[in-house]
Amino acid sequence: MTTTTCYSVRILSAFNTFQTTFSSAATRLSSVGARKQLKPPSASVSSNEIEVLQKGIAELYDESSGLWEDIWGEHMHHGFYDPDSSVSISDHRLAQIRMVEESLAFAYGSEPAKIPKKIVDVGCGIGGSSRYLARKYGAQCQGITLSPVQAQRAQALAAGQGLSDKVSFQVGDALNQPFPDGEFDLIWSMESGEHMPNKEKFVSELARVAAPGATIILVTWCHRILSPSEESLRPDEKKLLDRICDAYYLPAWCSASDYVKLMESLSLEDIKTADWSENVAPFWPAVIESALTWKGFTSLLRSGWKTIRGALVMPLMIEGYKKDLIKFSIITCRKPA
Ligand code: SAH
Repeated sequence: MTTTTCYSVRILSAFNTFQTTFSSAATRLSSVGARKQLKPPSASVSSNEIEVLQKGIAELYDESSGLWEDIWGEHMHHGFYDPDSSVSISDHRLAQIRMVEESLAFAYGSEPAKIPKKIVDVGCGIGGSSRYLARKYGAQCQGITLSPVQAQRAQALAAGQGLSDKVSFQVGDALNQPFPDGEFDLIWSMESGEHMPNKEKFVSELARVAAPGATIILVTWCHRILSPSEESLRPDEKKLLDRICDAYYLPAWCSASDYVKLMESLSLEDIKTADWSENVAPFWPAVIESALTWKGFTSLLRSGWKTIRGALVMPLMIEGYKKDLIKFSIITCRKPA
């Protein structure tokens, strides 16, 4: 057993004890959330369902973003690691920056042909990517999130970092972006796609706000690609994803190849995709470990039920990756010039 595996097993067993203690409460209260959201990607979701889901997403991030920032800093996404590396806790923030850099390198190669000047950050969290990209490229960046608390915090952090003239944040819906057509030359969506109840509308909005020649970078949780003989995931897989969906306010998942098909249907070009699941493997064990420190645990208990419920299903994310059900995917493309 490698050190990393041993470390994950230890953390997981401690966490499972915690999880068992709270599981009956979790079962009782999970109906409050967006339950049984798993439908095939093509299934339509009613506007009422979308409203309930988005209210839950906004409340989840309003409630939990302060705790996350306290422990993890301004990036609310996975870190990128060399496969099988064992990482100390202090390396994780660097790994999150590496995720941004690896995503850019995947889309652009070593350098973009044209440095992006106007960027949209779709599902911006507290704006970590926006500020990083604005600084890196000297670009203007606009972020949207469903959470008013995040938008406000993102703006305050920008002011604190002397970036008020470069970046701005607002509450806005990725499925109906508050921007005109063809506005941006880099469209950035880091780990927000999994929250989108209508993937078709989501991708078409990414394409709509893209200027001719713009690059679209989508990094998101997907389920595994189905084999040609399969019509859907297996019942046990659906059950696992259902539990994760309940806790994280996620609607139906899709696969990376579903995203590719959506991009193809919009005549987007140079579509590329990769499975980075192995590169994010050390992340969830580290998040669980941080929740089990005294600071993490007490902050968690103070932050509210939605956040606690999210913490309780963290081991299921690890299980999903281990079972090759959850895929951490990057999908990039370009709008024709
Ligand atoms: N990209 C950020 C945050 C990821 S957390 C980062 O890497 O740090 C997921 C984010 O997606 C949250 O900010 C949430 O508000 C946002 N989100 C989810 N659904 C959304 C929607 N329909 N429109 C806009 N933002 C959305």
